[in-house]
Amino acid sequence: RAAPPAYRRVLLKLSGEVFGGGRVGVDPEVVQSIARQIAEVHRNGTQVAVVVGGGNFFRGEELSQRGMDRDRADYMGMLGTVMNCLALQDFLEKAGVPTRVQTAITMGQIAEPYIPRRAERHLEKGRAVIFGAGAGLPYFSTDTTAAQRALEIGCQVLLMGKSGVDGVYDSDPKFNPNAVKFDRISYDDVLRRGLKVADATAFSLCRDNAMPIIVFDLADGNIARVVRGEKIGTVVSA
Ligand code: UDP
Repeated sequence: RAAPPAYRRVLLKLSGEVFGGGRVGVDPEVVQSIARQIAEVHRNGTQVAVVVGGGNFFRGEELSQRGMDRDRADYMGMLGTVMNCLALQDFLEKAGVPTRVQTAITMGQIAEPYIPRRAERHLEKGRAVIFGAGAGLPYFSTDTTAAQRALEIGCQVLLMGKSGVDGVYDSDPKFNPNAVKFDRISYDDVLRRGLKVADATAFSLCRDNAMPIIVFDLADGNIARVVRGEKIGTVVSA
């Protein structure tokens, strides 16, 4: 019998990159495999909320560097996240997980508005909840939204699922072959060493409110491993 889950309720942040399999748009096969991983965690009894990024469609900052108004470009970025939400919802439901999408920008035909108490109720009733459109605010990020949602709906941990990075290193492993991975690191050491775990706003929200972060590679089966408490990736905590 599998070990019981270490967490009752988790917030999983999936960046847009994950959805596109490295390209623009959505790669259904990749989304399906992530959905199956989430379904496994759900079956094992952990409540899963997801915050979805949108970098596979638009990043506001990039568009604004190419001449667009930043606010409007950020709204395009937020709308991109919603397409990822719908793709993930589709594959989650196909994998047998009843799922609700809640968006920070109202779009009644396809999603509920973000209502934290209702999101908690969905989770308690055995539904996965996917949060789209970030915080609904230009100049914010989906990392920051993930930290905020994790805090507001009472998640025990923020899981930062990555593609191609398996934790926090003392230097960039892409450039330094001798980079060393941390199994565990404190918030203060992340700051002291100038390491990047999430953007600064997201990180300080977690640090100020003692929300642990686990950075790990989304390779097959890893979400369930992390939720069982296996030591993969890097745990960032006090
Ligand atoms: N965005 C925003 N406010 C938010 C969340 C996202 O303006 O609260 C915009 C911003 O332009 C961002 C884009 O949506 O570049 C996509 O989100 P993000 O870059 O966080 O996605 P990820 O990097 O995780 O794919």
